Order: sequence, then structure tokens, then C-alpha cells
Amino acid sequence: MRLKLTALVLLSIGSLSAQRRPGEEWLTYGLTSGETRYSPLNQINTSNVSKLTQLWSYDLGSGGGNQEATPLVWNGTIYGITNWSVVFAVDARTGKQRWRWDPEVNQAAVRSKICCGVVNRGIALFQGMVIAPIIDGRLEALDATTGKVIWESRVAYPQDYYTITMAPRIAKGKVIIGVSGSEYPVRGFFDAYDAATGRRAWRFYTIPGDPSKPFEHPALKKAAETWSGDWWKLGGGGTVWDGMAYDPDADLIYIGTGNGGPWPEELRKSKGKDNLYVCSVLAVKPDTGDLQWYFQMVPGDSWDYDSVQQLMLADLTIRGQRRKVIMQANKNGFYYVLDRVSGAFISGQPFAKVTWAKGLNEATGRPIVNPEAHYGAETVNLSPSAGGAHNWSPMSFNPATGLIYIPTTSASSFNFAVDYNFTYKPGQSNLGIVRNTGGGGGGQNATPDTTAGAAANAPSTAASKTPPSPPAIGPAPVEGQRGILLAWDPVTQKERWRAPGGGGIGGGTVSTAGNLVLQVIPDGRLVAYSADKGEKLLDVQTGLTGGMGPPITYLIDGKQYVSLMGGTGRVIPRDGAPPSNPTDAAPALPKLLTYALGEN
Ligand code: CA
Repeated sequence: MRLKLTALVLLSIGSLSAQRRPGEEWLTYGLTSGETRYSPLNQINTSNVSKLTQLWSYDLGSGGGNQEATPLVWNGTIYGITNWSVVFAVDARTGKQRWRWDPEVNQAAVRSKICCGVVNRGIALFQGMVIAPIIDGRLEALDATTGKVIWESRVAYPQDYYTITMAPRIAKGKVIIGVSGSEYPVRGFFDAYDAATGRRAWRFYTIPGDPSKPFEHPALKKAAETWSGDWWKLGGGGTVWDGMAYDPDADLIYIGTGNGGPWPEELRKSKGKDNLYVCSVLAVKPDTGDLQWYFQMVPGDSWDYDSVQQLMLADLTIRGQRRKVIMQANKNGFYYVLDRVSGAFISGQPFAKVTWAKGLNEATGRPIVNPEAHYGAETVNLSPSAGGAHNWSPMSFNPATGLIYIPTTSASSFNFAVDYNFTYKPGQSNLGIVRNTGGGGGGQNATPDTTAGAAANAPSTAASKTPPSPPAIGPAPVEGQRGILLAWDPVTQKERWRAPGGGGIGGGTVSTAGNLVLQVIPDGRLVAYSADKGEKLLDVQTGLTGGMGPPITYLIDGKQYVSLMGGTGRVIPRDGAPPSNPTDAAPALPKLLTYALGEN
């Protein structure tokens, strides 16, 4: 009898999943909880990827700008979210809309409260529900079949200058979500909500609050010793707006935290202090939010080096030893490999031009900061820029090649000088740095102002001399090439190959068992390379004008597809090409596009 029952249970689960093997659907932001963006599918491969053609498109509706989201695929349906947090479900075979739900954000009221761009990186799926982050601070659970609201929770309020731009993730039946806003005076945190009910289970503040009040959790007592002055009056920063991973075996979730606010440590009255937990990776227990370990990439950050970039879990053989690692291609230009169980530093090397530090301490991973980087009134030019060597664009890992495909801004810089006249201005960016210092500007967190960022990287004009810069380390940039795709060996910490195009913002990738890397380029192209050698096998113009989200791939009825969301963001010219003129063509509408192998 018992045996029969077991068999029945197995059958009933089996009937739900019989058709689908792992990796055929795209169920979570990074494809797996280790966020590798490695697809085991190989129907589309090096021999036929050149035949990839557009099958259908779906209009994402009003709200242009950058589409940064990764759509999800479940049960023959693509689920997605637009920059203004409109959630949609379409038939993955045809692109026909199943439902659409508009959270009706009060755009006029909220816009000025959004520090760093109207963007959204994605949704989560949990037991027949779509979990959607709304830019105005709400978290919604929608019925995946009908789009009807099942529960709503309030994470934060826009009047406090918090926004939500990251994709929620699911860990142990909880929704994990953080807040954006470190260019405004905010105190960073991330939360866990019961995925079934929406009830908040715990909150982890990344920055200690007013020390005259009790600490919300014990880890903040230690953190408060690394601050001084009245930091809590301006929040301190440390927002959580992108990278997260989950290891069920280690029973840990991993979260990256953002920059200190205001930017210069001096204005946080923290010269020489570490300011925990800004610019760190935190490993916490999903049940309780208890901190197990932390690793701070940028102690005493003064350079907007948010350390929220994608956190990727893999098992690598390093010096003959199998290691469970967590990895990050940080804004600060270093590629980090840590032990994800203990938090111990394994290795870190520059993958782009770096001048703010000489390198990392081999034993601890602590940066050896160049003395000039601790800037004051005199302007100093530092690399990478505040936009980062790598930003939110997803990288991917291919276990067959052992390589990480990093959308990289290979050479960028930014002019830093402390604004000693800094006073807190409500409702504005409170960066605390001097503007117009011969090429500065830009560098916000969610979507850095790429126009200003580009200006910061342009050769200085006759009127403005380039400020001094410490000596550079890292792979030598190729003249005229800013955005690249970098194939990086995380074991040897060395470049294997590179290809022009893409960059830390808007150049997202997926890698597949077909020996492929598929990448979007911010000028509207979809390209493919062989994963082992970097041979270009596909280069198609999607017809979008930029603001490209990363590609995904999936299998339905035995057929492999590739989909991506693209917007109408600022047109970023192709490397070496003259800037395109937006008046040349009618403005494109943001779209969800799906590709499959054609007949030609
Ligand atoms: Ca930032």
C-alpha cells in the first residue's frame, strides 16, 4: 500500500514535469539559483546559429527608455516586466498576449524620487504566481494564469527616495528583495517575504542606524564601529539593487551592497574607516536573515563602486582543489573569486583598466588603494568610472570552456573632487563631488547616465586638461574600443579572448551547450560567438534603438527559442562608428522579440 502511494505521488509530480528537463524553461532571473546563465540546450549551436531569424515581436507598450529585464518562461508562457513595472504574459510560441497588468504607478509623482533611472530587471515565479517588484516600492504576487493580484506588500515608500529595480529571487519559500537609491540619502536594506502570503519575515539593514537606538540586528553593532560622525542622518547608502544568489546546500543567500552615500568618505566623516556593510557581499541564512559572513570589496568607498553586480556560484578546481566559489566582476574593475561557504578570499585580478588601486592583498583580498585615490579638493582622474568596469549586464559561465563571459567597459574614468560646500538637498542627488571638473559627471547606480559617462571617458578638450591619474593596471585597453565582451578564465584570472561591442551596461549574455555565447549590443544588435574561441557567428540588427535587456533561451515542443526585451533608450554608437542620428528613422517602440532557426 505504501509503495503504491509513493508510486502515485511520483506519477503525479512526473506528469507535471515529464516533458521538461532542467534548463528547458527559464524559471528564475539567472536561470539557476547559482545565476550562471548557462543553458544546457544545444539545438541552436555553432553550426546553425547564423540561421537565427525573428519569429515574432510583442509591443511592450508605453514607457520607452531602457528595458533591462530578463523575461521568464514557464508552462509555454513568457512572463516579463517593463521599465515602469507593467507585467505581461504572452504565449511563447506565438507572442499572443495572455494577460497584462499595470500597477498604475503615479509616474508624475514618483519620477523625481527615483535616483537612478526608471528601470526594472525582472520578476520571480513561485507556485503559480508571478512576483513583481514595482518601482514605487510595492511587491505584488499575481496569479500566473490570470494576472489577478493575490497579495501585495509594501517594501518601501518613494517619498523616502527608495525605489525597487532588482529582480526578486526565491529562497526556501521566501521572496528576497532589496531597494535602490544610494545617490539619494537612504539607508540600504533587503527583505524576505513569505512567498505564499506576502508577510515580511525579516529585514536586513546594511547600514547601522542612529546608535542611540537599539541595533536592529547584532551584525550592525560591529558595523557601527566602522562609522563616525552623524552618518545615519544621510542614510549611509549600501542599497541592494542587483546581484543575488542562493546555495540550498550551504543554506545561504548572497547579496551585494551598493556605494556609500554621499560618495566621498570625508563627507561621511569616515576618513580611514571601512563603513560596513557598504560595497560588500553578505551571506545570510534565508530562514532568519542572520549574517554568516561578509566580504567587503571596497572598504571606505569614495568612488561609487557599488558591489551589487551579478553574484555567480560555481564549483571550480583551483590549485588542484575543488572549491565551491562565489564570483563577481565588480564595478571596481577586479574579478573576485571567494569561497562561498566560508567567505574566504581565493583570488582577484583586474579585468579592465584600474587606477584607483594597485591590486588586492593576496591573503585578504583587501584593495591596496593608491594614495591619490583618497581625493580632496584637487581633482583626480580614476578608473574605472562610477559606471563601472561591469555593471548590471548579466555575464554567463560555460562549464565546458570554463570561461566567464563578462560584458565589460574596458577603459573608463571619472574625475573626482570633494565638494566642500556640500549641504544636504532634499529630493536631489547628494553625491558630494564637484561637477564640471573637465569631464566628470554621470555614474548613477541603476542606470548610470551613459551620456555623461561617455563624456567622462572622452579625451579632454583643449579647454580642460586631464587631471592626474595614478598608474594603470589590468588588461591594456584597445584603442577605440570601450565596450567589449571579455572571455575570462576565473581559475587563472586571465583573459582568453575578447570581442568589441557591449559593455558593462546593456551588453548582457547567455552561454549554451551549443558552444555559444549570445550577447545583446546596446546599439540594438544580437550577436553570437563560439564560446571556446570567440569566433563571431551571428550579427543581426533587431530594429530596436537601444536599451537592451539580456537574451534568454528555452525549449518548447522540442524547439529552441531565443528571446530578449529591448527599449528605446539612448542610442549608444557602435565602437568607432559615428553617432547615429535618432531623427533618421521613426522611433522604435520597446518590444519583446523572439528568434528561432529559420529555413535559409
Ligand atoms: Ca551608486
